[in-house]
Amino acid sequence: MITVWSTPLIASVEQVVSDLKLERFEEGLLREINNTGSDLMCTCPFHKGGRENKPSCGVLLREKLVKERKYEAGTVHCYTCGYTADLPQFVADFLGLTSPVQGFKWLVARYNYNSSSREPIELNLYRGQAPQASYMDEAEVERFYQELLKSKAACEYLHKRALSDWLIDAFKLGFDPEDGVVLFPVRDMSGKVVFYKGRSLKGKHFYNAKDIDKTSQIFGLYELCNGRFPYGAATPEDEIWIAESEIDALSLMEYGKYAVAIMGSHISEAQCKELESTPFRRFVLVLDNDEAGRKGAAQIKRLLIPKGFRFTNLRWDTDLKDINDLVTHYRGSWMDYLTGY
Ligand SMILES: [Zn+2]
Repeated sequence: MITVWSTPLIASVEQVVSDLKLERFEEGLLREINNTGSDLMCTCPFHKGGRENKPSCGVLLREKLVKERKYEAGTVHCYTCGYTADLPQFVADFLGLTSPVQGFKWLVARYNYNSSSREPIELNLYRGQAPQASYMDEAEVERFYQELLKSKAACEYLHKRALSDWLIDAFKLGFDPEDGVVLFPVRDMSGKVVFYKGRSLKGKHFYNAKDIDKTSQIFGLYELCNGRFPYGAATPEDEIWIAESEIDALSLMEYGKYAVAIMGSHISEAQCKELESTPFRRFVLVLDNDEAGRKGAAQIKRLLIPKGFRFTNLRWDTDLKDINDLVTHYRGSWMDYLTGY
């Protein structure tokens, strides 16, 4: 048994590679496969038209730590052409699939017998959460939600920002009538509210209802995995949009995108770990249209591309600062203003 993307597969690396060989048998790829004890050495399918004489492509048989970095079983490296990939990426490249997620699905469908009767991908959605010290009281969350439904001004504010009522329900947004602040509950992967982000109706004023390290959470990630949305919970094939603020993410959801917010222009280490613990690997970056946003996008790519994440980085050539401004301004045609998509 091996573990790939933290998911157990009932197969050895040798079995996976020989099954792959069978898939393209006519082409004679992976002609030679030698087990050295720690690796499989195969003829590399990616250089010399797959016809090299001496096998120079190594596949790890077991998980291996190199300089404190963990390489999962099945990690591939060709010592001649330099091709390097984890197993899902290798499967995708070898079989001509569109993404490592597709490669992962191929593996899970074949070798993850445990979960064949249900959605296999859900297995690892909730891994790796640190226990939280404290949560908002659910009765309090409900009270703020009811206050929002009662407040015409607050609802109007949200409608003006292109957020409609189903989002208020799906995310259980709230309103604090004393301070006149619309509240966005930030949940951890257990679904409990860790803290609120807020926006004052009187201006673009932000506040945190609780004194807490907000950089460890990702707004909307829980809802994405468990969404009671018209278009269902996100699956590993879906592209997930990453925006800066929660209102940005919600306005993307309004238009049928799966979106989360990192609540700032930079991603934290804890947030990276949080994303890694989900099955999502395809992302669209729509950080703010300013220097901080551009730097933030570069940072996200730098940290996560080596971990197998794929990004489309979008920008818009107008003066509008964030994606919510763009959506609010252009409504149905906002996507026409994006470039690089
Ligand atoms: Zn090679």
